[in-house]
Amino acid sequence: HAKKQDHGQISYYHSFMNERLKNRVTLIKSLYEAVENREFDVHYQLQLDTTTNKVLGAEALLRWKLMQVSVPPSEFIPLAEEVGLINQINEIVLTKAILQLKDAGLLGTAIPKVAINISPMQFKTASDAHALLEVATRFADELPYVRFEMTETSVMENVDDALVILNQLCRMGASISIDDFGTGHSSLGRLKELPIDEIKIDRAFIRDIPGDPQGEVIVKTIIAMVQTMGLELVAEGVETNSQAEFLSNHGCSVHQGFLYARPAPVSELLDSPPLMKLLNLAGANSGNVTS
Ligand code: C2E
Ligand code: MG
Ligand code: MG
Ligand code: MG
Repeated sequence: HAKKQDHGQISYYHSFMNERLKNRVTLIKSLYEAVENREFDVHYQLQLDTTTNKVLGAEALLRWKLMQVSVPPSEFIPLAEEVGLINQINEIVLTKAILQLKDAGLLGTAIPKVAINISPMQFKTASDAHALLEVATRFADELPYVRFEMTETSVMENVDDALVILNQLCRMGASISIDDFGTGHSSLGRLKELPIDEIKIDRAFIRDIPGDPQGEVIVKTIIAMVQTMGLELVAEGVETNSQAEFLSNHGCSVHQGFLYARPAPVSELLDSPPLMKLLNLAGANSGNVTS
């Protein structure tokens, strides 16, 4: 029915679509180049046990700059999945994270575990799955310090394939975490079949506590469920002291969020006195470190 519209509207529409298409094509082209040149940075966000004040791990979060401007992962990760670049991106993150943390002397010590996000696209086909396992095999020695995170939604989309790959990663020594928990529709029965070590409560629920009665019930229910299953639990997106207190008072003491630490490059972890203190590194109190 485009014919019924006047010419001005049609050409406006066309130029708008052309612009969008051009932007998309440019973005895809740039993403290919970035993968080719491995032009990504990895930032790390610490996870803390608030009862002991110990760092239990750090989540590796990918960063990409296109002409000095950061493109958020929520934009380029789905695009990478769409155009088939996600396996190569995962290889880059895993390799960079392990090598950077090892070089800094943090992996398995000050940072006992590094969490790596993986996408369900990575075992869509046998060759995708093979690529993921091939990279994992290359780091067989470090896998005990690696925890793979998959969102609840993506695991439940394809439980059967997830089960095979996650079991293999587990057998190789890695551990498994279910990310953004509570937003998907897990069947508890299926969840129990998976080789899961940890569950991460989605930030959306943390935002509502304390105060929102429904949010409080959801968080308390997830905590009880995870305790019954004997799994580890992390609350993500903890931003305020009252959120932290509510969680700790109800039995969830492992937190990740801006309240404690923002994602930062490894150099910053080693330069910032507050982060060094969290990491329990010698020199954390030395006065000559500025930042
Ligand atoms: P995610 O795995 O759930 O990661 C947590 C996100 O929450 C990160 O956003 C982190 O910066 C943010 N965050 C942490 N604490 C707080 C807080 O207190 N408040 C708020 N408002 N946000 C907080 P980021 O880095 O933008 O990543 C977004 C998503 O992109 C990730 O969600 C993950 O799904 C995906 N992603 C990031 N890096 C990778 C990667 O290397 N591979 C894959 N497949 N996905 C990735
Ligand atoms: Mg994650
Ligand atoms: Mg998450
Ligand atoms: Mg998320």
